[in-house]
Amino acid sequence: MNGFRDLYQEMILDHNHSPRNRRKMETADRSADGHNPLCGDRVTVYLQMDGDTIKDVSFEGSGCAISTASASLMTQALIGKNVAEAKEVFHKFHRLVTGESNPEDAMAELGKLAVFSGVSEYPARVKCATLAWHTASEALEGQSSTVSTE
Ligand code: ZN
Repeated sequence: MNGFRDLYQEMILDHNHSPRNRRKMETADRSADGHNPLCGDRVTVYLQMDGDTIKDVSFEGSGCAISTASASLMTQALIGKNVAEAKEVFHKFHRLVTGESNPEDAMAELGKLAVFSGVSEYPARVKCATLAWHTASEALEGQSSTVSTE
């Protein structure tokens, strides 16, 4: 599993260093704020919907490398998905980071997001990895609100 661990490190460093889709979205239909008090991570997720489909996703915020990389990879994973598909990805991602699915299945189902399986070894970091996802799912519900992982 050393190769996998290296990939995990590399992907997190890369997305932390140059996050994708990190910008305020002026034309967002929906947004939500999330906060992980344990680590101090903060994120705002913006969604632009086209009916039931997520046309665009972006985020703003500051936090640890894992929370930033996770938000960045999440935006790439969600663009073009409909609400049900997005929830399904979140469900699978959550199972992955809590160690409920094995990495090979996750690789097939989640692609790049599977690198986060390493997080399951560090329970304190699970909230960092899932913050953006909880926040996006709150935004998808259409309620503007603040999510706290506590
Ligand atoms: Zn964090």
